[in-house]
Order: sequence, then structure tokens, then C-alpha cells
Amino acid sequence: MREYETIAAISTSLGESGVSIIKLSGGNAKEIAAKIFKQKNNSDFLKAKPWTMNYGHVVDIDSGEIIDEVLVSYFQGPRSFTAEDVVEINCHGGRIATESVLNTVFQAGARPAEPGEFTKRAFLNGRIDLSQAEAVIDIIQAKTELSMKSAVSQSGGKLSGEITDIRNQILNLLAFIEVTVDFPEEDLEFTTGNEVSEKLTHLLLKVSDLLKTSEEGKILREGLSIAIIGKPNVGKSSLLNALLKENRAIVTDVPGTTRDIIEEYLNIDGIPIKITDTAGIRETDDIVEKIGVDRSKSKIDEADLIVFVLDHSRPLDQEDKDIVKYIGNRKSITLINKIDLEEQINPDGIDLGATIGVSALNGYGINELKDKIKELFFHGNIEITDVMVTNRRHKEALMRAHEKMTAAKTAIDQGISLDLAAIDINAAWNYFGEITGDTLSEDLVDKIFSDFCIGK
Ligand code: GDP
Repeated sequence: MREYETIAAISTSLGESGVSIIKLSGGNAKEIAAKIFKQKNNSDFLKAKPWTMNYGHVVDIDSGEIIDEVLVSYFQGPRSFTAEDVVEINCHGGRIATESVLNTVFQAGARPAEPGEFTKRAFLNGRIDLSQAEAVIDIIQAKTELSMKSAVSQSGGKLSGEITDIRNQILNLLAFIEVTVDFPEEDLEFTTGNEVSEKLTHLLLKVSDLLKTSEEGKILREGLSIAIIGKPNVGKSSLLNALLKENRAIVTDVPGTTRDIIEEYLNIDGIPIKITDTAGIRETDDIVEKIGVDRSKSKIDEADLIVFVLDHSRPLDQEDKDIVKYIGNRKSITLINKIDLEEQINPDGIDLGATIGVSALNGYGINELKDKIKELFFHGNIEITDVMVTNRRHKEALMRAHEKMTAAKTAIDQGISLDLAAIDINAAWNYFGEITGDTLSEDLVDKIFSDFCIGK
């Protein structure tokens, strides 16, 4: 295990609460805590048994004055979250109590932890791999129970296990090829080639199966993005409100996201949905309106699904037709809203495809809309398969590995020499390693952890 400075941070969120937790990790965690923690029973914290909780006070390092009443636990490395010595101080919640205790910890010798540094240490100390570390942040940011379930499975090592298994098989293949190349006999190269090609086919199937989970996996992690589109007054905001009424998901704001377009999170039977109410997309010379239109267009382009709203009580007009044209072949659901009003809509030769009649005002048809969404993305049946690829970074690595393995197989099948194919197989092995963090550069690892919150 590497030696690191002892770090400290608040692990709970700051605000009025019963308890806050300040976490210390590093070789000196216990010594630092002992300087400022006076136990009620007067025993020395340095002698505290591991995995116990101890009662007393945090005191000022110079004056000895009591700062807060606390419970302090001690986890001896390597059996701790970071695999180092960890001390957790449970003090009173609230900004003043929490920050006073944290400052005292700093005065006693700890340094402020960087974002994600605790989890990064768990990774660098080999307790978890990179995909497990990434799952920790996914658990914290999970948008629905289902998202959380898949993140918990990943943090437990389900994906890592699968990837490690594939990497081991590739390593065996490479060793096998090397032996053959070292003893170059025509026949041997031929039989080895066949065998390697067969094994690659088997591995390629495995990777394809993993990649197949990535569309649903991405949705579980990031949310399915839906853009509501339609001309003014068709009932877009009313529809959004009707959906939010029962299904609003509680999510934490991601810092840095702009809120000039209305964006909300829904939870539809566990599917996290990010829904955007866009402005119109009509042609305009007004500069301000044009900015809005451009922004709506880019939201529409980014969306996984478009919900196109039409008004049952008005005839179709040019603006509706322009939207139909803009949607083109994108995945979409067409709603005829205000079905409670008299029919005036006249498709006028325009093919609207399958439509759903709804009334955003009284909730009619909203369930049908939800079922349609589930059907389009989860075949109507939402369940977490054992191993799911939820992270874009993992998906990209798998795609590249798949490409390299395909190239190797093609080369072997065409009778091109095995040691050339081995170069591609080796590249694939590296791409798989990026998922677990074994072959990822330090810069990229740092970047991944910098997206974490402080205290985790
Ligand atoms: P937006 O401009 O597309 O966002 O439309 P709004 O949601 O603001 O709705 C425009 C008007 O249509 C409002 O007066 C709504 O109350 C009304 N409206 C929306 N949905 C319905 C509906 O299903 N039935 C009826 N009768 N009125 C609706």
C-alpha cells in the first residue's frame, strides 16, 4: 500500500441536521484525532480498539476548550473504505458545529481532501477497481431506485468480474499465440489460428451482449432524455405538469447546468426521465426568438425521444407541418392533446403515424403515454440484468475492444500471420483494462475523480 498524507473532509451534506460526519483517512488519522479528541472515560484514543465508537469531546488544540460533543469511530486499515486508517467524527449537524470541528482537525495536521479523494485512495490502494469507484458516485447520484440498484451491483464488482474474466482469457490467447510463433511450423500456425479465431468469436459474443445492455444502462444512469415539442398553446407545459404531478423525481442539481429551458426529472416505474419543455422551432427573424429556437433544436437533436404535441381543437397549420418535417425519422411519440375539446384537427394529408389522444388538463391518456415510453425503451419490461454497462466511458472502451478483436479475427481468418493479429488482440486487452483502471493513464484517472464530490 502507498503512503499518503492524512486527509479530512465533511462527508455529510452541510445544513441543519442532527449529525454531521467528518472523515479522516491516512497513516496519521488516529494520531491527529487523538490530539483533539478527549474521551469521557479519560482513556487515550491512541489505544482505542479498531471498529469501535468512542464518546467524548473535540477540544481546541491550544486551549483545550470544548468545541463539540462527539462520537468517534476508528477503522483500522486495510479493513476500511480507503484501505487506510480511517477515523470518523460524528459531531452535531449545522454549518458552525461542523466547520469548527473540521478546522480543528486541520489544525491538528490533516489536509483538506480533494473531490473524490477518499474513493480514489480506495482505488489506488487496490481495494476496488475504477468501475467500482465510478459506481460509488453513481449510487450517490442515482435518480431512481432502479438506477441505484444497477449502481450497487456495479460497485459490488459485477462488471469488473466480467471484464477481468475476459482479460484473463485474452491473456491466455496471447500466450498461446506466442508459443506458436516461437515454434514456427506451418501446421501448428494453422491449427492455432483456427483455435484463436474460435475463441475470439466466443469473446466477441460476450462483448456484444454487454454492449446490448448499454442503451438501457445509459438511461438508468443518466436518465432518458425526452423533449416535448409543439407550437405555442398546444399544451406542452400542461403536459409536463400532468406528468410531474405523480412522477416527479427528487434529484440534486448538477452544478453548472443552466436552467433557461425548463428541465425536470420524472420517475416512471424506475426509469429516470429528464424531460425538457422546448420553445417552438418556427422560422423567425427576431434575434432573441432565434436563439430560443436554436436552443430548442439542439435539445431536440440531443433527446432520446421526442414527444410531439398537437392540438385536437385547432386545424393543423404550417407550423405543425414544419415540426413534423423537422422530426423526420427521429424516435418520437405524437400526442393529440385537448381530446376533451371538440375535434377541429384535420391532418390534411399529413401522415402522423400512430397517435395517442390525451388531455393534459384531466389526465386522460397519460398512462398510455407512459406505457408507450416503457415499450419503446425497455420493451415494456423494466428489469436489471446481472451485468449492465451504464457508463459511456465503459461503452466506448468496449466498442474499441470489439473493433480490435474483430480486426484480429478477420486477419486470422484470412491467413495473415498470427503475430500481427496479436497486436490487435493486445490492444483490445488494453481497452478492457481502461474499464477497470488497470491500463488508464494517471491523468484520465485524476479527471474521473475530479467529478466526484468532496468528502467521498
Ligand atoms: P404550451 O404553450 O404548449 O405550453 O401550452 P399550455 O400548457 O400553456 O396550454 C395552453 C392552454 O391550453 C392553457 O390555457 C391550458 O389550460 C390549455 N390546455 C392544455 N391542455 C389542455 C387540455 O388537455 N384540454 C383543454 N381543454 N385545455 C388544455
